[in-house]
Amino acid sequence: MSKQDEVILSGIRPTGRLHYGNYFGAIQKFIVLQEQGLRCYYFIADYHALTTASERVDYFRYTLDMLRTYVACGLDPSKSIIYRQSDVPCTAELALLLGMVTHVGFLERGTTYKDTVAKLPGGTTRGPEGNPIPYGLLGYPVLMAADILIVRADTVPVGDDQRQHVEMAIDIAEKFNRRFDTVALKIPKPVVRNAVRLPGLDGAAKMGKSDNNDLGLLDDEKIVLKKIKAVQTTTDPTPIEGASDDPDDVIPQMPPSVGALYRLLSLLAPEEVYLDFTRKYRRGEKFYGVLKTTLADYVNAFNAPIIEAFNAPGNNDESIKEFLTENAKKVTPVALETVEACREAIGIGRSLHRA
Ligand code: ATP
Ligand code: MG
Repeated sequence: MSKQDEVILSGIRPTGRLHYGNYFGAIQKFIVLQEQGLRCYYFIADYHALTTASERVDYFRYTLDMLRTYVACGLDPSKSIIYRQSDVPCTAELALLLGMVTHVGFLERGTTYKDTVAKLPGGTTRGPEGNPIPYGLLGYPVLMAADILIVRADTVPVGDDQRQHVEMAIDIAEKFNRRFDTVALKIPKPVVRNAVRLPGLDGAAKMGKSDNNDLGLLDDEKIVLKKIKAVQTTTDPTPIEGASDDPDDVIPQMPPSVGALYRLLSLLAPEEVYLDFTRKYRRGEKFYGVLKTTLADYVNAFNAPIIEAFNAPGNNDESIKEFLTENAKKVTPVALETVEACREAIGIGRSLHRA
């Protein structure tokens, strides 16, 4: 396979505004791959957003704003096939078929599921009906497998938090092909081990749209400063012996919230700037105030062109809806081909009403 034939797929849930974790874990890679001229499918995962929903939310509004942010960041709907997951509903049909070869025990090992269980006060035995976790959340990896497999993706650029889900998709595809003695599903490549996982401003291991700990790409100067100033930096730095200047060496030894600030700085500022802060930290010097204002400056400089492009007159709901419609039409043929091949492999036969 030549590099130009490589198929890329990745999605983001419309659960809020895009943040720095989304950018450095996903969007930055989306743009690089797009510019290499590969066949890139980037979708807004509105079905996936429902796995953690407890009430009606205007997901379409989030979808439109997220796509305006995509465009503002440099994603180009004439180069990449940017679409909405629910506009290709045969993804749900493929998920149903894949669910038939996927054991519940396998899904119970999923990190998203396990994290949700861990947060339940009474564990999964709570409530009159027992396990209160929705079937859709347990089945999240099956739907994600369908997203990947339906377009015959080779590479799935995602942040480190999603690495396990891609591995599960590979397992599900291999099992399906083995069980039905078919090559209907193309097996994607695993996610590289060194994928980014940006911590939250609260020091949590992951910044997340749904976790109220994010720094957003559309945050204005006032909000940026407010969020960064609010980061907990009450513990003084303690001198670190033996570590190199490498952020990967030093950050794990910092209090998590300070590490979050420092990780951001290492992504945004030139090396000499963040290494200067590392050295100060290693010597046990106090510098948190300057660290925060320096970081805020870099964040504001990064956000300014994105905010401007987000608000540009041509980047509006109508233009987004137009390309969503056009691009969904580009995904549907390959998606139907995959589903039909799977239907045949299982034995229910091809659909009698689709072309
Ligand atoms: P939610 O909290 O609603 O799940 P999220 O911020 O986790 O939102 P997703 O839509 O689940 O975002 O994920 C979109 C992409 O962004 C995925 O590729 C995911 O790996 C990546 N991503 C999300 N958060 C981070 C993070 N903190 N560091 C690196 N990558 C991230
Ligand atoms: Mg997530």
